[in-house]
Amino acid sequence: MLTKDSAICIRAVDYSETSQVVTFFAKATGKFTAIAKGSKRPKSAFDGPIEIFSFGKIVFSDSDREKLATLTEFQQEHSLTGLSKDLFALNCALFAIELLNSLTDDYDPHPQLFDSLMQFLQNINDLRGPSDERRETICLLILFQFTLLKEVGLMPILNFCVNCKTRYEGRATSDEVYFSSAANGIICRDCEANFPDKIRVSTAAANCLADLKLLAQANEKTLNQIEKILISHFTYTLGRPPKLAKHILNGL
Ligand SMILES: [Zn+2]
Repeated sequence: MLTKDSAICIRAVDYSETSQVVTFFAKATGKFTAIAKGSKRPKSAFDGPIEIFSFGKIVFSDSDREKLATLTEFQQEHSLTGLSKDLFALNCALFAIELLNSLTDDYDPHPQLFDSLMQFLQNINDLRGPSDERRETICLLILFQFTLLKEVGLMPILNFCVNCKTRYEGRATSDEVYFSSAANGIICRDCEANFPDKIRVSTAAANCLADLKLLAQANEKTLNQIEKILISHFTYTLGRPPKLAKHILNGL
């Protein structure tokens, strides 16, 4: 049986002289891996070799989900060409799909996450104007990472202390706030001693975490701090640092 879907390539490796093994994140299907026979031939049903971030309409057969699916058609759209022009934006895009690949299961559909990923990639692809570009890119990456955590059921608690449930009201500069991956969220000053892995969070960053809408106006320093917390959180969650993490940290 053939299935049609909208999909983006999140991994592509050569299988032979002419074929590739491709992992897609598809809107209705979720993540799955398929063989694209003949995809590297000049003329194929796939509009040329399939590269990471290629996206469009696919047709595939997955009658036995224990084995690789077979890709039969791929109509590629060509609109993410700007990603390769800015190394930091490209690394952020690669980081986003690395995290998505690590935290989602095969054939587990996440249509909203698919839309968020496409929107994220489109937005950083379209960013022009060097002055604000980096800040904007980090802001979009942070929002995507929280969407990802929410979609896979791992969203941290960000507006009250996970341990004592004291609400984090924000805006008071004297407040001491911490983030703990072990607790999966915000920890207050009274409870921090119980959480050795905690990281101190600045007031500005804590306010943004409690209300993610504030990220849009946050300065680059605050965004960098939040991204570092997220990288440390993903490292804890995955049990290892994400491969691209060092490239993101170098760019902060
Ligand atoms: Zn507390």
